[in-house]
Amino acid sequence: MKYLFLVITVLVFTSVLSADRLVRLYDVSPGSATDLIEEGYDVTNIDMRRGYVDIMLPERELDQAVLLSYKYEVLSREWGELLPENRDGAGYYYDPEENWAFWCSLAENYSDLSDTPVTIGQSYEGRDIYMIKMTSPTTGYKPPIYFSSLIHAREPGGNSVLIDFAMWLTSNYDGGDTRAAYILDNTTVYFVPVGNPDGYAYNMPGGGMHRKNMNWSAGGDGVDLNRNWGYMWGYDNSGSSPYPNDPTYRGDSAFSEPETQVQRDFITDLEPIAAMNYHSYGKWLIYPYGYEYDTYTPDQSTFVAWSAVMTAENGYFAGTAPECLYTVNGEQNDWMYGGNEEQGIMAFTPEVGTSFWGGQNDSSVIVANCADCRPMNIFICMTAPGFVGVSGESEVGIEPLLSLNSVYPNPAISSASFRITTSGSSNVNVSIYDTSGRIVNSFESGNLVGGTSSLNWDVPQEIPAGVYTARISDAAGNCDSRRFTVMR
Ligand SMILES: [Zn+2]
Repeated sequence: MKYLFLVITVLVFTSVLSADRLVRLYDVSPGSATDLIEEGYDVTNIDMRRGYVDIMLPERELDQAVLLSYKYEVLSREWGELLPENRDGAGYYYDPEENWAFWCSLAENYSDLSDTPVTIGQSYEGRDIYMIKMTSPTTGYKPPIYFSSLIHAREPGGNSVLIDFAMWLTSNYDGGDTRAAYILDNTTVYFVPVGNPDGYAYNMPGGGMHRKNMNWSAGGDGVDLNRNWGYMWGYDNSGSSPYPNDPTYRGDSAFSEPETQVQRDFITDLEPIAAMNYHSYGKWLIYPYGYEYDTYTPDQSTFVAWSAVMTAENGYFAGTAPECLYTVNGEQNDWMYGGNEEQGIMAFTPEVGTSFWGGQNDSSVIVANCADCRPMNIFICMTAPGFVGVSGESEVGIEPLLSLNSVYPNPAISSASFRITTSGSSNVNVSIYDTSGRIVNSFESGNLVGGTSSLNWDVPQEIPAGVYTARISDAAGNCDSRRFTVMR
């Protein structure tokens, strides 16, 4: 009986795709927004800058009591008036088959740059989850950078950004934009374009609104794969739900789902240095930590500095999840940064555009979204390798004879103070590197007496805002380094 009900539900859902509507609530306080999530509403976007929240409601529930306490607007259908030629698949977005065909054809046309898709595991329903490795024939250490999309099944906007970036890299490598050659000569770019293949297939044709995977065994309608990761999983019930019917149901344990296991194992082997995990929508650029207010990674100043550059042109709003939307736990960025013993991966989540399926019948929407996001992808690929390469030195030595304890304030504006510990009287050289490894400033400490002392430094006017590494060394060859940020 239950199975029959399920079948009927599926049929009804796929045949009457317009049964859910987006409703925009106005003048919602941040606290009330969180309450809506905890009450189980499918909150698709919170925009505190403009003071509204979008929720998804079945059409028959549009008069729900909650609406009475807010001004609201039922938004126009995104998929209701499909052009006939776009009835199939995902319209101008790439449906599952078109994705596969695209990545295969890229490997065919640019066999020296792009590998054919490789299966890294299977979904709950047994579909392949695949990755594509892209780099040039140059040799040497080429740090991995990770791109993913469609872990939420109704968010193809991020998928088109990956496709755009892959096309840009390959078509510009030979004689086009020199940054493409720089990236493929110095890094290895990995794409996991369809993180939730079951949910995406379920949303076909036409573009459904299913978000989670297709593991309905807990009695609900799937697990939210971006609440199922194993760092601070189930920390609290804010933005992450223990109830199987909720849109943010996190599963019954961390990494309970095959889809998150597959990406976890691949990332653990790969050890990428940076990641762009694409979602939609809202024009956000989100970085860790998401699980708690006022909780930041040790690389907070770097996240702030990088995201300031990344969002300078496209107007995306950057911050941690609580700063942008609401607290979440069991989310991919938090695990990639905090759940990884080896190294905090500089992981970002761009929330692309202003709707889930807005480009389905209007390719100009997709083109605009890709134009917004491509510079962020280029920035990450060009910046992350230098950043990691220089900072690696700070790991040297368990009981350092020479230690750079802190740079204060961080970010620095006009001056900074380096707290340095030496084992005895010594002269210390301080060199300041930018992210590409160039020395932008260098000076001597004079004779330090031993123990801990502060060394003041006036930030030269000609040094632009950005991320820097201070490296200290002494005549005996001891050294230490620390990252900091300069703001202007
Ligand atoms: Zn999402």
